[in-house]
Amino acid sequence: MKIYTCTCGQTLFFDNSLCLRCGAEVGHCPVCHSLNPLHALSDGTYRCGNPACNAHLQKCTNFSEHQVCNRCVVVPEGEGTPDAFCDCCQYNQTIPDLSVQGNWEKWYRLEAAKRRLFYDLNLLNLPHGTAASGFYPPLSFDFKADVIPSVDIWRSMGNEERVYTGHAHGKITINIREADEVERERLRVDMGEAHRTLIGHFRHEIGHYYWEILIRGSHEDAFRAVFGNPEKPTYAEAQNTYYSLGAREDWRRSFVSAYASMHPWEDWAETFALYLDMVSALETAMQIGFIAPDEYDLSNMDRMITQYQRLGVGLNEMSRTMGLLDMVPEVMVTPVIRKLHFIDERCRPHRGVAPAFPHQFIS
Ligand SMILES: [Zn+2]
Ligand SMILES: [Zn+2]
Ligand SMILES: [Zn+2]
Ligand SMILES: [Zn+2]
Repeated sequence: MKIYTCTCGQTLFFDNSLCLRCGAEVGHCPVCHSLNPLHALSDGTYRCGNPACNAHLQKCTNFSEHQVCNRCVVVPEGEGTPDAFCDCCQYNQTIPDLSVQGNWEKWYRLEAAKRRLFYDLNLLNLPHGTAASGFYPPLSFDFKADVIPSVDIWRSMGNEERVYTGHAHGKITINIREADEVERERLRVDMGEAHRTLIGHFRHEIGHYYWEILIRGSHEDAFRAVFGNPEKPTYAEAQNTYYSLGAREDWRRSFVSAYASMHPWEDWAETFALYLDMVSALETAMQIGFIAPDEYDLSNMDRMITQYQRLGVGLNEMSRTMGLLDMVPEVMVTPVIRKLHFIDERCRPHRGVAPAFPHQFIS
């Protein structure tokens, strides 16, 4: 994650909407791809404060009306109205009910995590688009709460009242309970997970979306060779086994997490999330000077993995020093490294990088 600088010299962070030194409102400019002061114009629009850019901007509606975003959209020259929503908010289909106390705070955290997800996807130049733009499969987000009757609690709480975090045909649903820190930590402990974070949910669910784009109908045989056959057992069978018997004993030998061992699709999504964790952590480490610029090399996956392991050892010790959870809990066993390479091979063409293993993974 980049660190930005206000024109007054103050350091700005990705989520800032105000400079604490000069008091300027700041926002993300989609033209110069930077966080800059916003110079207000008399008609309610803005100029990007980067003198080299000076783009004519308008705040995203979720910025101007709800303060859960800090991004801007371009005001078209001449005729035409600017988009109401920024490049991240345009994907929202359902937002939390803001008349419910506490939901604004949850939504704010969800949007902050989602913006970081798009930052990662842009690093990798991975494609995504809305239904309105004609992109297939269209991506969208539903942020929903469980509807559990508060009066008639004796009533059956069927599926229709439970919201499951998941992905289906480009629609990512997140139960907003995940944005409640106490609830999320309770779930993490109940499920025996090393981490449970909002950004982790987004990285996992977007993994399912990219299975649709990078694998379905084009590389399914190669996928099977690396992750196993998703039809045997079926997803429903695998799910039943996992929730009745738990994860297989030896999952650590081949999988990044216990949940990954449930079914090849979950293995892909868990490993895809690890891939995004790794890219994101190394890019941040490079931006803040923890590693040298040439140590963040997206074209060399072996080097990335080695760097991430090396950084992980240090970060885990730092976490332990401060009494926090290990920052990099994953153990990179050979099968996991092979899966990471497979994911990277599928992502590389989108950033114009040739395959590293032209003869591997082809079936
Ligand atoms: Zn400033
Ligand atoms: Zn700009
Ligand atoms: Zn926005
Ligand atoms: Zn999943």
